[in-house]
Amino acid sequence: MNKIFKDLSKKHPDEFFIDENIRICYSFDTSFNYSIPSAVFIPKEKNKMIDVVSLLLEKGIPVTPRGKATGRTGGCVPHPESVVVSTERLRNKLQFLQEDEILLCEPGFTIDEINEFLKNYGYFYPPDPASSDIASIGGTVSTNAGGPKAFKYGVTINYVYGIEILIADTSVLKLGGFLKKNKLFYSLKEIFVGAEGTLGLITEIYLRVLKLPECRKNFLIEFEKREEMLDFAWKILEIRNSSLCEMMEHEGKFLLWCEFEGEKETCLKNIEKIRKEIKKIKRANFILLRSKKEEKQILSMRREYSSKVWLITGMKKGLDITVPVSRIKILFNFYEEIEKKEKIKIITYGHFGDGNIHTSIVYKKGEEKKAEKVKSEICEFVLEIGGTVTGEHGFGLKYIKYTKMFKKNYELMKKIKNILDPDDLFNRGKLDKGFDVEKYDPGDKENLCILCSLCNLHSVNYKKELREDKGTRGEIFLSKLKNHNFLSKENLKSLECCPLGYKGI
Ligand SMILES: Cc1cc2nc3c(=O)[nH]c(=O)nc-3n(C[C@H](O)[C@H](O)[C@H](O)COP(=O)(O)OP(=O)(O)OC[C@H]3O[C@@H](n4cnc5c(N)ncnc54)[C@H](O)[C@@H]3O)c2cc1C
Ligand code: SF4
Repeated sequence: MNKIFKDLSKKHPDEFFIDENIRICYSFDTSFNYSIPSAVFIPKEKNKMIDVVSLLLEKGIPVTPRGKATGRTGGCVPHPESVVVSTERLRNKLQFLQEDEILLCEPGFTIDEINEFLKNYGYFYPPDPASSDIASIGGTVSTNAGGPKAFKYGVTINYVYGIEILIADTSVLKLGGFLKKNKLFYSLKEIFVGAEGTLGLITEIYLRVLKLPECRKNFLIEFEKREEMLDFAWKILEIRNSSLCEMMEHEGKFLLWCEFEGEKETCLKNIEKIRKEIKKIKRANFILLRSKKEEKQILSMRREYSSKVWLITGMKKGLDITVPVSRIKILFNFYEEIEKKEKIKIITYGHFGDGNIHTSIVYKKGEEKKAEKVKSEICEFVLEIGGTVTGEHGFGLKYIKYTKMFKKNYELMKKIKNILDPDDLFNRGKLDKGFDVEKYDPGDKENLCILCSLCNLHSVNYKKELREDKGTRGEIFLSKLKNHNFLSKENLKSLECCPLGYKGI
């Protein structure tokens, strides 16, 4: 195997790497699990990627697809025998067929980049994970990502007209494309959307896009009591042109961040309706966001929210709980009970509109066991009331044990995997056998880096090279692991944007 890697690194010196430091930088995602791969491949061009990965597959060498490693569950954390194939440089093709309203793109673009491009035509791509500025479209298709607007527009799978995918027998399949209908086959592409890189490597994507609405109006409502916020959120959902209904806790208050979109007249009429309703609630506060700047501030606050929760006590266990919207109150009653019983704090935020309530169990040093017990109790309860432990983040490494609890579904997944990839070459170990992973320590309050990757957006070196090991996050990870400072001068500067105020070790 070493000989093949050496030959490949000689042939593609700026794309195929066996250097240990580079391998370390491709060992993690935001789940705090890591495992160092045997090699890393960061191709600049699609056909080269297909050729090299096909060669690896023919030799029986496993590969782990990786987008931007913003995954929450360890989906792209590689088996140690595997080669990480990163798509972060695959950004050559972005083609819009306006008459068909279909966009063709390579997997390395972010959703924000796609939307910036589409804006010129008066269009947008609706799935909007809070990581739309940092995650790759390939990664979001592979995890079937959701987002705040999913309750109105649906999740990623509702916007994929087609994919091109390299599978383990080295065929390149084109499933769907510039077509809005095709009933010649089973719904084949749907099996690959959300497969988390266990069935193949997505090389191109055809996306359904929509016309931008005439008007979007954002507002915040601040409540004294959670109960009042939950009741009011229902009123927002009943107004059919609402496209956002996000909940957050902030300085002891309960916040709803909402948006109405559609025709201007209807939006304004509905805003007035809400304003009147709010007046009936004591001490509730309505704030209309009047400028793009104010909207951006709230968007940043929401995007950074889960990071900021770390600053409260320094440690948390995050869960991607989703319940039927009608049972959200039951979930919150359970949280209150468990908080009292275990004397532990639970912070919630997320998407009221589709019942996806991100749940953080915050705890102090020495309370790790208690937090783990609370996490298990929550997961059991949620499954009992017809919910799921992950609505959008995916099974990855973190939730696969829960996937296995649904025996028949899990067996079916394994059968599909065995047909398409009998030697477990794609994302080895994820579905079945597992593998040992190391735990990353994010540090304490003064030295906290949770690997969110926001700083890479501001790293001159990352933007130039599109390589994790050149970016700020990669350098931080390496520094922490080797207890030595690898931060370059340019990347140090990019830390100014860190929501946690990380300054470097
Ligand atoms: C601040 C923050 C906010 C977030 N908010 C949301 C949210 O609102 N909604 C949500 O759903 N998620 C959210 N996430 C999680 C994460 O951004 C998503 O899971 C995203 O889809 C991952 O994209 P990525 O490019 O980082 O993929 P990675 O983490 O690199 O990979 C994810 C999975 O996809 C596979 N994969 C990647 N590229 C390919 C490919 N080309 N072909 C085949 N398989 C591939 C990998 O093997 C892995 O299993 C958030 C994460 C962060 C850090
Ligand atoms: S330094 Fe800050 S912005 Fe960068 S990855 Fe760490 S937590 Fe995120």
